[in-house]
Amino acid sequence: MNLSEIIKSEYNKSISECTNEEIYNALLTLVKTMAEGKQHKNSKKKLYYISAEFLIGKLLSNNLINLGIYDDIKEELAKNGKDLCEIEEFEKEPSLGNGGLGRLAACFLDSIATLGLNGDGVGLNYHFGLFRQVFKNNAQTTIPDPWLTEKSWLTKTDVTYTVKFRDMNVTSRMYDIDVTGYDSTTNKLHLFDIESVDENIVEDGINFNKEDIEKNLTLFLYPDDSDDAGRILRIYQQYFMVSSAAQLILDEAVEKGCKLYDLADYAVIQINDTHPTMVIPELIRLMVERGLEMDDAIEAVTRACAYTNHTILAEALEKWPISYLKKAVPQLIPIIEVLDDKVRRKYDDGSVYIIDREERVHMAHIDIHYSSSVNGVASLHTDILKNVELNNFYKIYPEKFNNKTNGITFRRWLIHSNPQLTELITSLIGDGFKKDATELEKLLDYKDNEEVLNKILSIKNTKKAELKNALMERQNVEINENSIFDIQIKRLHEYKRQQLNALYIIHKYLEIKAGKKPTTPITVIFGAKAAPAYIIAQDIIHLILCLQELINNDPEVSPYLKVVMVENYNVTWAEKLIPACDISEQISLASKEASGTGNMKFMLNGAVTLGTEDGANVEIHDLVGDDNIYIFGDLSETVVERYANGSYCAAKYYNNNPVIKEAVDFITGSELMSIGDKERLERLSNELIGKDWFMTFPDFDAYVKTREQAYADYENRHDWAKKMLVNIAKAGYFSSDRTIEEYNRDIWKLEQ
Ligand SMILES: *Cc1c(COP(=O)(O)O)cnc(C)c1O
Repeated sequence: MNLSEIIKSEYNKSISECTNEEIYNALLTLVKTMAEGKQHKNSKKKLYYISAEFLIGKLLSNNLINLGIYDDIKEELAKNGKDLCEIEEFEKEPSLGNGGLGRLAACFLDSIATLGLNGDGVGLNYHFGLFRQVFKNNAQTTIPDPWLTEKSWLTKTDVTYTVKFRDMNVTSRMYDIDVTGYDSTTNKLHLFDIESVDENIVEDGINFNKEDIEKNLTLFLYPDDSDDAGRILRIYQQYFMVSSAAQLILDEAVEKGCKLYDLADYAVIQINDTHPTMVIPELIRLMVERGLEMDDAIEAVTRACAYTNHTILAEALEKWPISYLKKAVPQLIPIIEVLDDKVRRKYDDGSVYIIDREERVHMAHIDIHYSSSVNGVASLHTDILKNVELNNFYKIYPEKFNNKTNGITFRRWLIHSNPQLTELITSLIGDGFKKDATELEKLLDYKDNEEVLNKILSIKNTKKAELKNALMERQNVEINENSIFDIQIKRLHEYKRQQLNALYIIHKYLEIKAGKKPTTPITVIFGAKAAPAYIIAQDIIHLILCLQELINNDPEVSPYLKVVMVENYNVTWAEKLIPACDISEQISLASKEASGTGNMKFMLNGAVTLGTEDGANVEIHDLVGDDNIYIFGDLSETVVERYANGSYCAAKYYNNNPVIKEAVDFITGSELMSIGDKERLERLSNELIGKDWFMTFPDFDAYVKTREQAYADYENRHDWAKKMLVNIAKAGYFSSDRTIEEYNRDIWKLEQ
């Protein structure tokens, strides 16, 4: 069936008579029908990618692209006076993720399907996602972000399981979203849910009764865990996810004739960060229940599981008190005790035990001992895991550790979000790069081609004008499309150092006030959600919003400098912001950003990176060379050492560096105090001077200097365009197709 036939049968109208919503619904039907027609690969061994987050973004355009009908549909709609972009507005973006980790899972699903691998995603169907961010009085407030509409990408299946908790049994039901591969097979994203969830228990904002598990289980991703009830709810959620997953995995394997001990011949389970860790004891528990000896079950599960570490931030490595696990899932305790006991018998080193002296279960330790692979997500990150953070484990299991540098799907982050650049590239080197991203290197032949360089600049201008319009439409802020677009978009966390960027803005503001005006005006754009319980992160958002108000309303400064923070940063925003960016801010404290994937998206769209030698920035630097990136700041070795010897003293920098002092004092000075909240601004200023745990000050001078250099270089448009071209040409390495090929070659070993 084609679109007009579907519209005829669903609405008994022609395309031109339909509302955009009706067309959207018809396109859903069309895509679902076509996706079903593409065979799911059904080879013996299957990958289950389990993740608490899948930040999939809107799916309509991507599905149309992957099914190869985007251009035809767009044209057919245009002929009937309809605009596909307007129709897309009807789609709600599911906020089923928090940031990079969830977006990575989504890019991976795209590549797994594109490469024709037998692999599905498994997660939860959060009704309200993370939250929707709304700015009020220059501060973040949070409200639920409903995305489930009567017609959606979700398909209810007949698959149900009983999940047993200490105090109740619930029935999980599987819902599926099609994952279309680019010109390839269709896989599934399985999202589990329970029927008894009650959206009406949410009171003001995103508050709800955390103890009413049957009603709240799948309402939100990462419910506030600043109290016990919140932490226990997270355990309920995690177990619900992995018990459903484990039952699915065993059922599918047994269906294909698997004897439980041979599970690894039928299933490989990729554990995305520690949230799904309980799948290990749960699989063991189920196998023992079905008759396997405990030791055999442990061996079988260890062979089938693989773990991805995403962070070295201590606070992110989950440790659950046994007492909490007892309250929710007592059946796992004996298994976890056996797992711990085996470790204790073998190794006389408390740092690798699963249960620590305070009776807490270290989830990552379960993953490392009882998986066959442990991978980091960028080369520097994996080195830090091996040599520092997980060194004690690396010494035990050197063979398990491996690196898989993250990647992004070019279908979304180039073909969909930047059709103009895609068209230019295609006109120059053909469209082989869509399947083999390394072909982008052919663009280097045009490095000195004036016409091509001008076209690249002109496309950037087009994308900047589009972003300007979107900002006007959505947030009613006006920016200068001829200014430099300097963008930092990512979760708000002190290690990512939005505060460093903010200090630069203050410094620049004061310079302009003193008469030192930039040659080309600058627009600094932020986008970031902060965890509701993370107070300092909220304070940093407050500072940025106050700066936005102060600077944009200052007639002396605003012609030269503007600050904009987009509200509710999400994938849809990212798709508009990234193609329009000139300078990509990747300024995390060296050693702290495991990889980053935003940095890759920007590079692919011709933005030049201003960054520290951290995460995948290191690999970007290696690929593009010194001339095509702006690197500054202390190296990770220095930072690691400084933490180890506790030598860092922020107050010293504050007292000895007048430029830092001036910028920090401005936070609590009269201009900002008259706009903002005294408590927030003072707390932030005190935090910086008294602690500055993520070492903003030591990098400040180098940051200012390097940023000024980037702005100065921007003036030579020809040379800048060359930098853009080199970045685009070298981005091929960061295709998630490459990443997934490596996962499959080294870990999954699925039939291709
Ligand atoms: C890519 C992406 C991220 C990750 O960005 P980083 O800069 O790597 O932290 C977060 N959120 C969204 C919406 C993204 O698209």
